[in-house]
Amino acid sequence: MHETTIAEYLLAQISEEASKQNAKPVAAKISCGKLNAINEDILCFAFDAIAKKTICENMKLIVEQKPLRAECKDCKKSFAIDFESIKCPNCHSENFELLPDAPLMLEEIKFKME
Ligand SMILES: [Zn+2]
Repeated sequence: MHETTIAEYLLAQISEEASKQNAKPVAAKISCGKLNAINEDILCFAFDAIAKKTICENMKLIVEQKPLRAECKDCKKSFAIDFESIKCPNCHSENFELLPDAPLMLEEIKFKME
């Protein structure tokens, strides 16, 4: 299961950062690409299960999905793809190249303030 692997990875990363900061993490923001989409409910469920009795217990995970991006071959601008009308928002060209999907990233960890 994709989400379980991600939950384990996040728990390891967050725990490491928490011990460096010597603080209890309360929330984390994660971003991922559209094609790599994570099921947020399954991820939170998997994370809660493995975070029990660790410093990460009861943390809140927020998942942000980054839009797929493309680069226009005519004006060289990159843009987020809108699936309703796929063309360059700058010059309206349909001559573009898809950019790689955004990787999974741990963007931010919020710690409890003492
Ligand atoms: Zn363009």
